[in-house]
Amino acid sequence: QKKAVVGPLVGAVVQGTNSTRFLVFNSKTADLLSHHQVELTQEFPKEGWVEQDPKEILQSVYECIERTCQKLVELNIDISNIKAIGVSNQRETTVIWDKLTGEPLYNAVVWLDLRTQPTVENLSKKIPGNNNFVKSKTGLPLSTYFSAVKLRWILDNVRQVQKAVEEGRALFGTIDSWLIWSLTGGVNGGVHCTDVSNASRTMLFNIHSLEWDKELCDFFEIPMDILPNVWSSSEIYGLLKAGALEGVPISGCLGDQSAALVGQMCFQEGQAKNTYGTGCFLLCNTGHKCVFSEHGLLTTVAYKLGRDKPVCYALEGSVAIAGAVIRWLRDNLGIIKTSEEIETLAKDVGTSYGCYFVPAFSGLYAPYWEPSARGIICGLTQFTSKNHIAFAALESVCFQTRQILDAMNRDCGVPLTHLQVDGGMTNNKILMQLQADILHIPVMKPSMTETTALGAAMVAGAAEGVGVWSLKPEDLSVIIMERFEPQIKVTESEVRYATWKKAVTKSMGWVT
Ligand code: ADP
Repeated sequence: QKKAVVGPLVGAVVQGTNSTRFLVFNSKTADLLSHHQVELTQEFPKEGWVEQDPKEILQSVYECIERTCQKLVELNIDISNIKAIGVSNQRETTVIWDKLTGEPLYNAVVWLDLRTQPTVENLSKKIPGNNNFVKSKTGLPLSTYFSAVKLRWILDNVRQVQKAVEEGRALFGTIDSWLIWSLTGGVNGGVHCTDVSNASRTMLFNIHSLEWDKELCDFFEIPMDILPNVWSSSEIYGLLKAGALEGVPISGCLGDQSAALVGQMCFQEGQAKNTYGTGCFLLCNTGHKCVFSEHGLLTTVAYKLGRDKPVCYALEGSVAIAGAVIRWLRDNLGIIKTSEEIETLAKDVGTSYGCYFVPAFSGLYAPYWEPSARGIICGLTQFTSKNHIAFAALESVCFQTRQILDAMNRDCGVPLTHLQVDGGMTNNKILMQLQADILHIPVMKPSMTETTALGAAMVAGAAEGVGVWSLKPEDLSVIIMERFEPQIKVTESEVRYATWKKAVTKSMGWVT
């Protein structure tokens, strides 16, 4: 049977904290043709520790590619039309592996992991001269969140990593590097690289010179020969060496939040998006300017769309726990069986009835950067039910976003008039309505919410030597948005927001 030709296609690997996905788009229409998703195990070996198995992550990528290709074949679509693949990934999560065997030398230490709190305290004591040393080079506060401190911990504590480094066998990477190295051949010539957006989250990368920073590497005592080459976000890194898509170039690489920014077409200075996944991340494009926050936000590299293209920066508000609180209610308390059920529970009551939930499981990120915080549920009475707690959990995501948006508006000077959203949680309509109510501005959700994947596919398709996707604004189709308008009185939401902030103060200082 003759196969239907649908024009050049581009695939996107989306390697998140919660799951891995592979999605295939038509590069002419941006239509999503097929996809496959695999949920991942998260390991919590000790209190505050979060790990994942790099082999399971890699396997899930292969599985998603194979299953998506099977589905395309069933749809009568010729997979030889797939001209390129982009990779978008959970950022900061740290992997170290042996380049001779291809085996990970330790589990991936996930961005949420808190084990490095003492490492951070020790490092902050030795910051030279002015305490802006790290922030002025990287745009980041010294925190457990970023890769350099995780890598320092691994080097200090894992004997087989120390040995591999001494013997010149160790390679470091964030998840993008681990995947690209493995997918392009691993021990048989795998390409050890990352892109500027991922590199900017390691805390070893100078966001002005766009190079690994010798002074930072000395400060963290990280050997520079284990670091990947840093390339732009859109160029051919190498070819897939196995599986159904063998020979297809990997030509896009973006941290997941940068990919969502691109997928939401936020190419202009002042355009912003908020992604609700495991955590929640509001990024505002600041163009070619590196803007430093006065209100607890990060400065980060957004993307660089080709070797000779200029870099673009973003201001970012990072919230550690968003969808993760729903997964916690499912896995740890068992009050729901699927994440979607949270909507029914919350809808049945339509209020938290004075219950507030601060899910500071990994301390608080922006705008507080408070590692001593831990989760609290407060305002409980004998009347409180699991429904109210479910509602409070959803509301916590909205309040955290409100705090970030307030900080962003202060830093940018020009308040956002609406919020573009995406990510796994945005399928929840109650959450979207609550968010509009708490922000007092419309919340706009694209009809195709897989914007992270779209962004990764776009940069891969636009790369030099691939050229099947245009990134010129006039060629990009307008995204159709669903709008959620604020429906409650400003006074009502302000009272709730003020009580939330009171609850936040109570979550702090639990760990000394
Ligand atoms: P990540 O990119 O971090 O892997 P996703 O964007 O895939 O995350 O979103 C998954 C997260 O969203 C999970 O933590 C899950 O609990 C949450 N989630 C998924 N569906 C819903 C829903 N309908 N309501 C609330 N939360 C949801």
